[in-house]
Amino acid sequence: MKTMNTLKDYQNVINGKVIPSSSGNKMDSYNPATGKVWATIPCSTVEDVDATVHAARTALPDWSALPASERADYLRRIGDAIAQYGDELAELETKDNGWVIRETKYGLMPVLANMWYDAAAAAIHVGSKGETVQLGPNTIGFTIREPFGVVVGIIPWNSALWTFTVKAAAALAGGNTVIIKPSELAAAAPLRYGEILQSILPPGVLNVISGTGAEVGDALVRHPNVNKVSLTGSGRTAQAIAQSTAQNPKSMVLELGGKSPNIVFEDADLAKAANGVTVNGIFTGNAGQLCVGGSRILIQRSILNQMIALMKEEIATHIQLGDTLNMQTPMGPVANEMQYKKVCSYIELGQQEGGEILIGGRFGGANLLPGQDTLAEGYWIEPTLIKVEGNNLHVCQEEIFGPVAVVIPFDTEEEALAIANDTEYGLGAGIWTSDLNRAHRMIRAIESGNVWVNTYRIVGTELPFGGQKASGFGTDSVREFTREKTCYIQIG
Ligand code: NAD
Repeated sequence: MKTMNTLKDYQNVINGKVIPSSSGNKMDSYNPATGKVWATIPCSTVEDVDATVHAARTALPDWSALPASERADYLRRIGDAIAQYGDELAELETKDNGWVIRETKYGLMPVLANMWYDAAAAAIHVGSKGETVQLGPNTIGFTIREPFGVVVGIIPWNSALWTFTVKAAAALAGGNTVIIKPSELAAAAPLRYGEILQSILPPGVLNVISGTGAEVGDALVRHPNVNKVSLTGSGRTAQAIAQSTAQNPKSMVLELGGKSPNIVFEDADLAKAANGVTVNGIFTGNAGQLCVGGSRILIQRSILNQMIALMKEEIATHIQLGDTLNMQTPMGPVANEMQYKKVCSYIELGQQEGGEILIGGRFGGANLLPGQDTLAEGYWIEPTLIKVEGNNLHVCQEEIFGPVAVVIPFDTEEEALAIANDTEYGLGAGIWTSDLNRAHRMIRAIESGNVWVNTYRIVGTELPFGGQKASGFGTDSVREFTREKTCYIQIG
């Protein structure tokens, strides 16, 4: 008997065409809420990489020669298209990585549209502006900004459409042509997004190619006709890319992981802090799988018991697991099986290392969502807080990347600062205090690319977003996707 194939096949977007891999090979895409295959994506080859780079290179002269105002027109039209396709894209992102629909639809989509509008403005006000200097009576010097050429954006599974947009919008605004390589663990939404975008842009200006990191990602970063690489992903992948490009170094942006401290002092507004370090800091709609997740909650010992009670209340009130496509559900599952196993193993390791589970600690759809049969095989993990003493355990030093945080007591500001900086990472940090002097001391002394005081996790395209230490370097911005050329002219 013939079975009906209900899986949707998503395709590459190369040179304005929506096409399968040249080999015809596909990979399955799993919905993490159910643990079931819901779509297929192309498993592309090195030949497909060559075709994609060729398309981007061929489209470059015309795209880069456009006046910035015309490129900006294209980008604004893309921003407008988000309103038209937003519901579909939000649902795809939710099915791809489990980020709950109420956040992908009402949080993510408006942000994506704004990113395109902001990039359109930056194309004119940043990407096409240089400086002029008078160098004596007969000589002037000036700079012009120009694109790098073909930019490859390699993106992770946890926030595919956001990382796609931050790279593509800035690189296109700067006059580059772009190739996006989505994660093989969440490529359906980026492939469909690319299909929508290419219908607005000239062929080859924006391409999306799906495949494994080891084959397609590696072939892209090695390719001699690729001029710049921007990775959002793990330190392990950054090292692999650095090795692959060692003989032919390329300009790079690296947006990597974190182990961010969220520090509550005794003079803070404790109710606000309890929300900020739990619901807003780590137990988010995508189950704490965010690079700036406040995964180390540092609490002054004098308020420890009070804060634990408040954090329990926040979690009980605001966090329930459930159908990710239901508008009421605040927190989703972990995005894939590999990550699920990793996070579960850290919960066990934390206890073996002497940590005390304050909240949560259980996992598995059948355990956590009894009676909801469709979710029984999904990658569900309870919001989990593990209390530890000191900062030297594996669970305090390694990025877990899930709905799990350690709670570390401290006594003094100096001790809090030492613990906060005692990590290889430097991406985000939160400070909860009513003492302005303390806030400023901490802002200056913390080794982190982003610091929030009495809030957490807000980002704005008006400001740079980047990391320090092992969290990477550079930012996805029009300034960094253009380079300066210096010119001297002598008159007479
Ligand atoms: P990952 O490094 O495993 O994969 C990221 C991408 O790199 C994928 O598309 C993958 O296919 C590709 N890749 C893998 N090996 C490659 C190779 N040898 N050459 C070229 N490309 C290769 O990361 P992940 O597990 O998908 O994402 C989670 C990580 O991303 C976490 O560490 C998280 O903190 C980080 N992240 C950082 C930010 C930020 O802005 N700093 C944002 C989101 C996620």
